[in-house]
Amino acid sequence: MSCLFCQIIEGSIPAKPCYEDDKVFVFHDLHPQAPTHMLIVPKKHIASINEATPEDAALIGHMMLTAKQLAKDAGFAEQGFRLVMNCNSWGGQTVFHLHLHLLGGRMMTWPPG
Ligand code: 5GP
Ligand code: ZN
Repeated sequence: MSCLFCQIIEGSIPAKPCYEDDKVFVFHDLHPQAPTHMLIVPKKHIASINEATPEDAALIGHMMLTAKQLAKDAGFAEQGFRLVMNCNSWGGQTVFHLHLHLLGGRMMTWPPG
């Protein structure tokens, strides 16, 4: 298995876990870009949002709702936070296993780089 995030989900590469259920694994980003920077990763390997299909709709919705709950648990839901999903080269994607970034704990700026 060559996919980095599949190996983290399997436990063969260590990560700092935040949350897990039957559909997603959430862990801290190795290079945090905010005081809280978690990655919400589906256990199903999907390379990017370009490869998602209508049958993945509930899974992708679950990723969003999991992020919302984690933001609430972290205490910054009311102040606000950012969810990011990069896609392919121009989107800045570097790991080709679908994931949602949850960034919180500081003021964000717009537009992103
Ligand atoms: P992308 O650039 O694909 O949207 O996001 C990939 C993220 O994975 C980056 O923010 C990067 O810091 C993070 N990352 C890369 N390798 C590892 C790793 O081995 N462990 C963890 N926890 N995060 C990683
Ligand atoms: Zn994978």
